[in-house]
Amino acid sequence: MILTYKVKHGKKLDKELSIAKKIAEFALNNRDKLSSKHVTHLGLKSVIANQILRKYGRNKKANTVKSVKLTIPNQGIKYQAGVINIPSLKLFIPFNKSFQKINQIELDKLFAYISITVSEPPTIKIKTHIGVDLNTTGHCAVVAIRETGKVLKLGKKAEHIHRKYKNIRKNLQKKRLYKVVKKIKNRESRIVRDLNHKISKSIISLAVKEKGGIQMEKLQGMRDNKKHRKSFKYALNSWSFYQLAKFVEYKALLAGIPVTYIEPAYTSKCCSRCGQIGERNDKYFKCPCGHVEHADVNAAFNIAFLSPSIVQLQEEKSFLQAESDTR
Ligand SMILES: [Zn+2]
Repeated sequence: MILTYKVKHGKKLDKELSIAKKIAEFALNNRDKLSSKHVTHLGLKSVIANQILRKYGRNKKANTVKSVKLTIPNQGIKYQAGVINIPSLKLFIPFNKSFQKINQIELDKLFAYISITVSEPPTIKIKTHIGVDLNTTGHCAVVAIRETGKVLKLGKKAEHIHRKYKNIRKNLQKKRLYKVVKKIKNRESRIVRDLNHKISKSIISLAVKEKGGIQMEKLQGMRDNKKHRKSFKYALNSWSFYQLAKFVEYKALLAGIPVTYIEPAYTSKCCSRCGQIGERNDKYFKCPCGHVEHADVNAAFNIAFLSPSIVQLQEEKSFLQAESDTR
């Protein structure tokens, strides 16, 4: 599996980044001269210059250069005792992760995007199924354990965070403080990402403790699942919702927890006790059989009990974003 970690590199790279931009522009205007010898006079090491020349020169669709990252290929990276060393930039980045190989590192003004290949542990032998219902309103995740009937509700804070930051952004927009709006947006995504890391970590810890296989709604299904699409909050929160699903996936893989997907068609309409179609009103679920339950808890049990459509992880799994997950 390939994971990308985003970490602060702590070095001033303004000069190198501005040369990189010049090289990218050169590549677009001189597509027949994609060799570092044509740009050595600009002063960037050829191991990096070559990457930029290839990336921009070979991309026929590219015709303008916005922001260029410095790309360091595997052969330009050394690693020893928890420290990455990029000799061409005299750059050292502490990095304490186990991996098979560092594929490449991209650098922008602040961050290093470290792409590594890690081995997946064998999947554990499961004793139960854990249904994970992800939501854009209320709790981000409601978890139900099939065998014990235990329920865990996680991430109530998210809705409050989204609402708070939406209001702040609105006020700033009125005052035309667009730069601050961007800053606030970044802060919100940092807070939400942190929360998503915590929630997904709790789900995986539970799965490990209970020896449970995780069952979730099919990811593609989530995107146009009526339950979510109808909500106007969906558009606002969908990125964090999707991010959480991805975090659960890759953390499960790393812990040897199998993940299976089920068709989302009936998870919120059916009664988890008897299977009949019930009435759902916001977060309230009522079945003709008399069973009454919190709608998300009912959905989580349905997800735990339904047999999966055995859609194993999609190809996307190789491009999961681990980001700066140091927890
Ligand atoms: Zn029922």
